[in-house]
Amino acid sequence: MRISRAVLAATRIGGPVLAAGAAASAGYWLCMSPYSQVLGAFPYRGRGDEKVVALTFDDGPNGPFTPELADFLGERSILATFFQVGRAVLRQPEITARLASEGHVIGNHGFTHEFTNYLTPRTLAEDVRKGQSALATVGLRPALYRPPWLLRIPALGPVLARHNLRPVSGEFCHPLEVFQPGPEMIAEGALAKARPGSIIIFHDGFDGHGGNRGSTVAAVRIVVDRLSAEGYRFVTVDEMLGLPAYQASQPEHSPA
Ligand SMILES: [Zn+2]
Repeated sequence: MRISRAVLAATRIGGPVLAAGAAASAGYWLCMSPYSQVLGAFPYRGRGDEKVVALTFDDGPNGPFTPELADFLGERSILATFFQVGRAVLRQPEITARLASEGHVIGNHGFTHEFTNYLTPRTLAEDVRKGQSALATVGLRPALYRPPWLLRIPALGPVLARHNLRPVSGEFCHPLEVFQPGPEMIAEGALAKARPGSIIIFHDGFDGHGGNRGSTVAAVRIVVDRLSAEGYRFVTVDEMLGLPAYQASQPEHSPA
């Protein structure tokens, strides 16, 4: 009797807690999981019929780490995809221009990378628009967008459609990358994810703030060496997914 009452009491307390936990994980799955397609197409990998991997870098440009990556990728004749933060582009436009001129693909990764700006339709729309405008200052009109934290709200689809942008997901190289553990640890995480068709997410910056990303740069060297030895090629995300990287048409309000 006593036990069942205790169980009942625990259930009364536990029920809401479990329900809240379930709602939180459902919310995560819906809005932040790299794999959820509930809010519309959100490709996180390619077809997988070829030994190709797409290396992607979020949160830059961030000197000197982004140029170090560009130097290394250039030595290996590898093209990658950089989802860049608009305010960082305005700080270091020469890095973005260099990447683009060397053939890397630049995507929109928002303007501020401030969490609260991605939670309401109005602030989200403004952030996407300003991200496109920042990239336009270096002559780019991306067709691809990666949401910061891969966060999606239902308004994202319509906002992106207005800008002719398509969302791109991927798989994080290592959950602790943000803390910059040793390069081997980051590399092992990325290599564990890598298989034909993988789109791997690294960070050459931290939000829009810059910061030391030396471990990531070193990890990318390890990953490239290892995957190359295994016979992998590296492609940009647009090639992996069969999507355009940039928009051909002129902005609506620009002179013809
Ligand atoms: Zn980011």
